[in-house]
Amino acid sequence: MFVDKYGIDELRRQVEDELEGEWVAERDFSIDGRIFDHDEREGAPAPLDSYGSPNGDASEFERFGAANVAEQKQDGFVAVEVKVTRGDLSPEQLRGLAEITRIYSGGYARTTVQQNLVLRWVREEAVYDVWRALAELGLGETGSREIEDVVSCPGTDSCKLGITSSMGLNQALQERLEEMRIEDPLTKRIHIKMSGCPNGCSQHHIGQHHIANIGFYGASIKVGDKTVPAYVAHIGGTYEGGEVAYGTRLKVRLPAKRVPDAVERWIRLYEAERDEGEVFNDFAERVGAPRFEAEVSDLALPPEFSLETMQMFIDWKAKVPFEVIRGEGECAV
Ligand code: SF4
Repeated sequence: MFVDKYGIDELRRQVEDELEGEWVAERDFSIDGRIFDHDEREGAPAPLDSYGSPNGDASEFERFGAANVAEQKQDGFVAVEVKVTRGDLSPEQLRGLAEITRIYSGGYARTTVQQNLVLRWVREEAVYDVWRALAELGLGETGSREIEDVVSCPGTDSCKLGITSSMGLNQALQERLEEMRIEDPLTKRIHIKMSGCPNGCSQHHIGQHHIANIGFYGASIKVGDKTVPAYVAHIGGTYEGGEVAYGTRLKVRLPAKRVPDAVERWIRLYEAERDEGEVFNDFAERVGAPRFEAEVSDLALPPEFSLETMQMFIDWKAKVPFEVIRGEGECAV
């Protein structure tokens, strides 16, 4: 922003000025000795005496290989992506993962902005054993980076700025997507993300609703003296292939409990009306936001409070009526 406003020359000038200050001599600011110079190739695991191979689980293993394993540039090594549902790991899973990394990936794992983990420097011949070991920890699921790998920030679970339970919606939506048994390869490529408030924190919480193909942020709808937990949707964002674009914000506010229905309708709309090979964002751009809004206009109508609609006034994962309570956030303030 500074560069946009004042220009790069002004930035350089101010940095040079600052470097003339007395503070420069106060202590050693050089980075020598502080550089983390780690030779990953050197630390790559040595071959083991023997490796396992598929035995009655070949097709499942193939699917894992196709969806979660990527070749490295270095011959004979691959990177294995571990799908971490909602970014949650138990202490037992973390200990088990540490053991797996010590044996199969040189002792390291990397986190991704999709709330997953990547094990690099896995020997090709070890992938089956890694998958089995992950499966024993409940982490052998396929489909990292696919539609069911829904990403959310913690929302009201732990963030005081959160308006809605984005983790609760994540779980509900993931269950719906699993029930839908999506096999269409283009539909599987859709990324869905949600945040518990409009901040959409971009760092460690990675809700990032605005760059998802379908994204949501938490909001509310007033109905008389009561409040319905709700979400505002963004359609057509992206972060793939080095391109980042915000999605278009739709002019509908959906009660939280109706979001899975809305997502299912949009997916069906896309599958029914897309052109041959048309990816979701191209489709969204061609048909336009009003088409997406019209598809869910009845779902967006605020419910009247009654015995039948009472659940609409309670957020996902919650047991008490919804109200907006905000304090200091986990990252934004
Ligand atoms: S402040 Fe960030 S972590 Fe908290 S609810 Fe909003 S987007 Fe989520």
